[in-house]
Amino acid sequence: MDNKKKPTKPRFSLTWLYVCIAIILGYLMFSRDGSALGNGTSKEVSYTEFKQYVSQGYASKIVVNKKEGSLEMFIQPEHVRDIFKTTNVQQGQQAFVKTEFLSAEKLQEFLDEQEALGHFSGNVNNRNGDSGIWNFVWSFGPLIIIILFWVLIMQRMSGGSSSGGGPMGIFNVGRSRAQLVDKDEATKVTFKDVAGQAGAKQEVQEIVEFLKNPAKYTELGGKIPKGALLVGPPGTGKTLLAKAVAGEADVPFFSMSGSDFVEMFVGVGASRVRDLFRQAKEKAPCIIFIDEIDAVGRARANRAAMSSNDERESTLNQLLTEMDGFGTNSGVIILAATNRADILDKALLRAGRFDRQIHVDLPDVNERKEIFQVHLRPLKKDDTLDIDFLARQTPGFSGADIANVCNEAALIAARNSKNAVGKDDFLAAVDRIIGGLEKKTKVMTDEEKRTIALHEAGHASISWLLQYANPLVKVTIVPRGRALGAAWYLPEERQITTREQMLDEMCATLGGRAAEELFTGHISSGAMNDLERVTKQAYGMIAYMGMGEQLPNLCYYNNDEYGFQKPYSEATAETIDGEVKAMIAQQYERAKDILKQNADKHAQLAQLLVEREVIFADDVERIFGPRPWTSRTEELLESKREEEENA
Ligand code: ADP
Ligand code: MG
Ligand code: ZN
Repeated sequence: MDNKKKPTKPRFSLTWLYVCIAIILGYLMFSRDGSALGNGTSKEVSYTEFKQYVSQGYASKIVVNKKEGSLEMFIQPEHVRDIFKTTNVQQGQQAFVKTEFLSAEKLQEFLDEQEALGHFSGNVNNRNGDSGIWNFVWSFGPLIIIILFWVLIMQRMSGGSSSGGGPMGIFNVGRSRAQLVDKDEATKVTFKDVAGQAGAKQEVQEIVEFLKNPAKYTELGGKIPKGALLVGPPGTGKTLLAKAVAGEADVPFFSMSGSDFVEMFVGVGASRVRDLFRQAKEKAPCIIFIDEIDAVGRARANRAAMSSNDERESTLNQLLTEMDGFGTNSGVIILAATNRADILDKALLRAGRFDRQIHVDLPDVNERKEIFQVHLRPLKKDDTLDIDFLARQTPGFSGADIANVCNEAALIAARNSKNAVGKDDFLAAVDRIIGGLEKKTKVMTDEEKRTIALHEAGHASISWLLQYANPLVKVTIVPRGRALGAAWYLPEERQITTREQMLDEMCATLGGRAAEELFTGHISSGAMNDLERVTKQAYGMIAYMGMGEQLPNLCYYNNDEYGFQKPYSEATAETIDGEVKAMIAQQYERAKDILKQNADKHAQLAQLLVEREVIFADDVERIFGPRPWTSRTEELLESKREEEENA
């Protein structure tokens, strides 16, 4: 399967086929003297009339079909009106009359005679050659075209042109399309390129060790694991880790995506799985990597009516069988990656198949710092740049987001014709990734601007004053994406969240609407997003997290893919609704109370916003005074710093 080594064969291009078809169709049309085009006007006339027209010198050309005993006489443009008797219709160049004749000899005689008299000087064409080959083409042509298309489509479907390789005909559909990664590739990824993820990295490195040095483990009677599953949110570096394994392991590495198994034909996936494992066993010791395994590994449906995808199930069954099929010491290790471990089939996850699950989580502030270091390497930076600051500004960002920020910042700097990327460019890139493009052109009245400022200042004030609300980074009333204004927060790096924290969050989110009601007297549509978030959060707390007063310690979470039925009674549903309403009402009152107590400070903040449009945490601190609580992000950064100093 080492496709790269084969000389590339000339490709059969689709364009050529289109050109051929167009030429054939075009020729067929014009070969019928344009009559097939249908743009000429025609009329049936008697043979006598025809003779009359010719003797009057109207004919420009005559096409004779001897077999049918008919002829078409094309008319000279200046005489078209004489025959069709119309005054206002454009007859065009192709007008003709049709007639039938009895004897070809007589016709020939008549035409010769007229030619001698000088009434007719055009040519006479016979169309009897038409019947043989052209009849054949007309009746079988469409069929041939359809067959050609079919063959072509099959070729496409079996991936002849995608996934880098020579042309694979329809007969190769069942072959695995795994790519063998070249060890000497220029774009080799190593473990150095993967920043953070210390735990995951160590586990994967261990797998490389197993293959390089199996004796070390088997001597003590241990068995080498068969497979490891990389699980984690998108963009956290799962594929990158696997690529690093390929770069570092000195063994063949088969890489394939789960969707490569899926094909329209039943049985193809299964045979691809079989083929892949056969190749792998030949090359053992080696690694098979299946990216996005959820495409095939989705839980098999347990209801007969729901089993819509037999093909996927048989592919999965084959995969399960193959993973059982070789001994633990055969030297084939399977790596797979997914961001939906919850929907994978249980059989796939049991020990003996994917023995290990390696969790690849979103990076914390220190890991973000390391990832920034990796992606800042190729950039030209100026010295305003502080990596700590960047890491702090990007909570909740995945590795992919950070890579994106770095690239976006470089683009922004280039757009402004700078010769190095600075802090401002990074801030602009972060804003852009969180909020979308700034819309400076959106026109707002002063009244609208004031309302938005009051709303955003409401969020900002409350989150500043509540201990567990996320600390603020900046507030703006410049419209961005679909939002009119926005307050940016640093989500705290928490592993678990307490009830108090969630309630404080909720209160801060409701602060916008509360400020509108208190200080403008009306409420507006601008709070819809806030309300939606609060409502979802409240339902989550009460129905899933067991935090309701009347429903303590109950979780109604339904993991069912087809959740048609609620796992609780109507009465419980009413209780949940009631609790949600009460919780939100309570937090709304709390928000209003806090704002009333700090009305003057809130007003200052809103005024500042109207004037400056963007304000930062320092401005809020100047008005409200410093917060007495340290954030967890700072604690994490601090502890890491101490660790480094001790080392
Ligand atoms: P996924 O987990 O969805 O497979 P990828 O591995 O494809 O994510 O990551 C996408 C990109 O994000 C990588 O190409 C890399 O540039 C960047 N990235 C993600 N995680 C890291 C990391 N830990 N260190 C460095 N770069 C990373
Ligand atoms: Mg991936
Ligand atoms: Zn809001």
